[in-house]
Amino acid sequence: MAAPEGQWVLMATGRSPTNIAVIKYWGKRDEALILPVNDSISVTLDPDHLSATTTVAVSPSFPSDRMWLNGKEISLSGGRFQSCLREIRKRACEFEDEKKGIKIKKEDWENLHVHIASYNNFPTAAGLASSAAGFACLVFTLGKLMNVKEDYGELSSIARQGSGSACRSLFGGFVKWCMGKKDDGSDSLAVQLADETHWNDLVIIIAVVSSKQKETSSTSGMRDSVVTSPLLQYRAQTVVPSRVLKMEEAIKNRDFDSFAKLTCADSNQFHAVCLDTSPPIFYMNDTSHRIISLVEKWNHSQGTPQVFFLLFLNICCLLSSQYLCVLPGFAILP
Ligand code: ADP
Repeated sequence: MAAPEGQWVLMATGRSPTNIAVIKYWGKRDEALILPVNDSISVTLDPDHLSATTTVAVSPSFPSDRMWLNGKEISLSGGRFQSCLREIRKRACEFEDEKKGIKIKKEDWENLHVHIASYNNFPTAAGLASSAAGFACLVFTLGKLMNVKEDYGELSSIARQGSGSACRSLFGGFVKWCMGKKDDGSDSLAVQLADETHWNDLVIIIAVVSSKQKETSSTSGMRDSVVTSPLLQYRAQTVVPSRVLKMEEAIKNRDFDSFAKLTCADSNQFHAVCLDTSPPIFYMNDTSHRIISLVEKWNHSQGTPQVFFLLFLNICCLLSSQYLCVLPGFAILP
C-alpha cells in the first residue's frame, strides 16, 4: 500500500571495518580537503571484529539532519560531516518505489533531511580508528540510500574528506591510498591492491597498550609535524615512494619477511617523525618499547621474522603469518 503523501521513511544500512596502516599516513598538504603528503597502504580488518554499522533514513517529515553515535546524539555541524553530506547529495540520483508510492527526483534530495544512527562494535575515539570505519560507513550508506552511481574509488575520495584513512576502509584486503597530485583532490583516492582472500594465513592481533586517551590528537600532531619536522619532509619525498613499491611487491608475493621488515621500519620512522616534531609527540610508552624489544628478540632467535609489530597511539598490532601469538598481560580485542 502506498504511504500517504509525505509520510514515508526510506532507509539503508551498511557496515564498514576499520583498517591498520602498514605504510603510514602522517601529514596533510591540504587541511580542508584532507590531502596527504605521501601514499599509504593498509590492511582492512574483518568486519566481524572491528566495524561500524550505520543506518540512514530519509523522510519528508524530518525537519533537519540529525545523527546518533552509539545511542547518543552528536552534532553534524562539523566541516567533515558537512563535506560528506554535501558531496553525496550532489551525486544523488532519482529514486522510485511505485508500491510504496515514493518518488524522489534528483533535485529533491537537496531538500530532504536525513537521520543517521551509527554503532561501533569497538571503543570510539580511543586510537582504534573508529573515524576510519565510521566515515567509510557513512559515505557508503548515504550513497546507497541516495542511489549514488559512483564506484568505490570515487566514494573513497568523499570518505577521505570525513577522515583521511576512511578512504581505505571502502575496500577489503590490502589497500593503497594514492596521494594524488591535483589541487582539488579528485585523484586522491583508494585502490585495492589485493582482496581479502589473497593472504589467508596473515593474522592480526590487537593488543591494547594503554586505555588512556591520546594526549595529542592526530590532526594537531600532523599539523605540527608538517610545519616543524625536516624528517617528515625527507620521509614523504624520499623514503615512502620507494618503500610503497617494495610493499606492493611484498603483498603481491605474500613475502612475509619483506612485509614484516617494511612494516616495522615504517612504524619506527613514524615515531621518529613524532620525536622530530616541535613540540615532540610521544605516542609510545614503556610497554610499547618492551613489545618492540620482545619482537626483535623473538625474530632474532628464529633467524627470520615470525611476527612483527605496528605501534600507533594506544594499540600495538602484532602481525604473524604462522603463529597466533598471545602476550601475557595484554587484552586482545574484541
Ligand atoms: P579514533 O582513533 O577512534 O579514530 P578519533 O578521535 O580520531 O578517534 O575519531 C573519533 C571521531 O570519529 C568521533 O568523535 C566521530 O566524530 C567520528 N566517528 C567515530 N565513529 C563514527 C561512526 N561510526 N560514524 C561516524 N563518525 C564516527
